[in-house]
Amino acid sequence: MDKKRILSGMRPTGKLHIGHYVGALENWINLQNNYESYHLIADYHVLTTKLDTSHIYQDSIDMLIDWLATGLDPVKSPMFRQSQIKEHTELNLIFGMLITVNRLERNPTLKDQIRDLNIENVIYGHLGYPVLQAADILLYKGNAVPVGEDQVPHVEITREIARKFNNQYVEVFPEPEPLLTKFARLSGLDGNAKMSKSLNNTILLSDEPETVKAKLKKAVTDPNKLRKGDPGNPDICLVFSYHKKFNPGEVPEIDTNCRSGALGCVDCKMKCAAKISEMLAPIIEKRKLYENDIKSVKDILEDGEKRARKTAQETMAEVREKMNLG
Ligand code: SF4
Repeated sequence: MDKKRILSGMRPTGKLHIGHYVGALENWINLQNNYESYHLIADYHVLTTKLDTSHIYQDSIDMLIDWLATGLDPVKSPMFRQSQIKEHTELNLIFGMLITVNRLERNPTLKDQIRDLNIENVIYGHLGYPVLQAADILLYKGNAVPVGEDQVPHVEITREIARKFNNQYVEVFPEPEPLLTKFARLSGLDGNAKMSKSLNNTILLSDEPETVKAKLKKAVTDPNKLRKGDPGNPDICLVFSYHKKFNPGEVPEIDTNCRSGALGCVDCKMKCAAKISEMLAPIIEKRKLYENDIKSVKDILEDGEKRARKTAQETMAEVREKMNLG
């Protein structure tokens, strides 16, 4: 292969928010010119936290539309559902033999997930999550995986599994490197470190300007700045962190005027809303085109699944042959 290959994926949770854009999509869009990219709609992974699958197809389509509307190119990069490529489950089964339960129990993201989601009963799927993720990546022989800092331990497990397979049989898999996302996380409107639909603290990529304004109005700021004229501290203000991302040109002025009290929080929030809506405008416009032509979205998915399946089948044929299972 000429270009190095990356595998990136998201669990389909429906329409995406600006946190997804900042934490992942923006990076994927930049990478698609320099890498051969495969984009996975990780619908099996959803089952670890939600067994109700009644909306999973529509959620997948909604997410795919956001991917396309933000600028991911389906001609360059196949986009596909994990559940439609049977080889994911087959490789997952083999990889499950190459890693100990002890090692998976030491995975720090497992502990974080149990704490964050308040999980009382850990299912096998939670423990095996990084094994299925290793299968997702290595099925396409990914050389690199764009991730946030919190996902690096999973890439390390993928590398260990690849090494174990290559040592046990014959070299088939690369050991993928994590490609760290620079601006990895955007906090939620309520100040929670995580922007998440389940926390109801998001701005969706499909939110119209009036909705963005209404949501921004409720965003938390410096709690000591009660009215215009009070000096504020932008360093502890969520809205200021959004300005840094979406309105970098005005950051020095906002910093000065917030501290002096010359700028009030309502005006500051409306400036921020305007900048976010400016960024979202072309995405919303493109989204509408896809929404009005669902057939073309389904065709893109079908084409992506065909291309991904071909690669996956080639890898599995090689795996079976090297393992004398052919
Ligand atoms: S003026 Fe702006 S930066 Fe300062 S506290 Fe209010 S919202 Fe935050």
